[in-house]
Amino acid sequence: MGKLMQDGFGRQIDYLRLSVTDRCDLRCVYCMASDMTFLPRQQMLTLEELLRLATLFVGQGVRKIRLTGGEPLVRPGIVELCRQIAALPGLRELVMTTNGTQLQRLARPLADAGVRRLNISLDSLDGQRFRAITRNGDLDQVLRGIEAARQAGFEGIKLNCVVMQGRNFDEVPALLQYAIDQGIDITFIEEMPLGEVGRSRGEAFCASDQVRRLIASRHALLDSAENSGGPARYMRLVEHPRTRVGFISPNSHNFCATCNRVRLTVEGKLLLCLGQEDSLDLRGLLRRYPLDDAPLIDALQQALRRKPLRHDFDPQGAVQLVRFMNMSGG
Ligand code: SAM
Ligand code: SF4
Repeated sequence: MGKLMQDGFGRQIDYLRLSVTDRCDLRCVYCMASDMTFLPRQQMLTLEELLRLATLFVGQGVRKIRLTGGEPLVRPGIVELCRQIAALPGLRELVMTTNGTQLQRLARPLADAGVRRLNISLDSLDGQRFRAITRNGDLDQVLRGIEAARQAGFEGIKLNCVVMQGRNFDEVPALLQYAIDQGIDITFIEEMPLGEVGRSRGEAFCASDQVRRLIASRHALLDSAENSGGPARYMRLVEHPRTRVGFISPNSHNFCATCNRVRLTVEGKLLLCLGQEDSLDLRGLLRRYPLDDAPLIDALQQALRRKPLRHDFDPQGAVQLVRFMNMSGG
């Protein structure tokens, strides 16, 4: 069993969000600009490098890894990478966040490879709106993907919905009903100001409390102390015990005090905080020391001591970060 990773504020870091690509088949309005330049291939970590880093982090005490992106399922070789990471001794669970477009084909292979739970993004149940929010997505393809995931035997499936005024706030009840009908969880997320996406974020910003009030006007809600090891706060629906409702509120309810995670971009940058720029270049070290992990472990432990206390998001303000969400390992 590896050493624990602890930051300078005494927080135990046991959760790694690993971005396996910056590329995506969608262009969601809150995540990307319509015209994106992606990384040259040689700047991306290879599958072997991703596995080496995952192994190193698990050796240092990481117990949960979430594969994300970009869209993780557009990375060739992803299922085999999942199989290798899931088999690492000491890892408690491998999970993934996906937009669902490839799940009809890949849900079963992923479950067989050892992915335990999926988060699937779904912002609208109206085909035209879905197309507008994702800038080209096909809602039916994603709904078929969700169905395939339900059949594939994952331990848990959760929908992720970024709520925006004027785009999908009025659909919160319908999205929740869809989750109830499917017997799965749903989390409503506040939009974070990451990257210049070509629209003002303040106008569309929708605080989690507004979403909760809208839901509470239709359903009896119970507070819940449940924690899935991530940033969401959960509530239970009195009449629908199979569905939990989560809220991720980076702007209105700061969750930094209990932060247990770091992110690794597909360029090999370790991001100590989603809302801050400080990072460690692990790719450089990885390529300089192909056979020796000791310098990487040293640099990692030193970087953890610099992990910031909190992010500084201001939902109404200007964009603070040049980094897009697809580059941050969402
Ligand atoms: N492509 C996959 C997907 O969409 O699920 C995984 C990567 S995506 C960056 C991970 C999550 O981040 C998604 O649930 C997405 O809705 C969310 N996200 C992207 N940009 C965001 C932003 N600016 N604010 C809040 N959530 C965002
Ligand atoms: Fe792609 Fe996910 Fe970003 Fe949407 S949120 S553009 S699906 S990476």
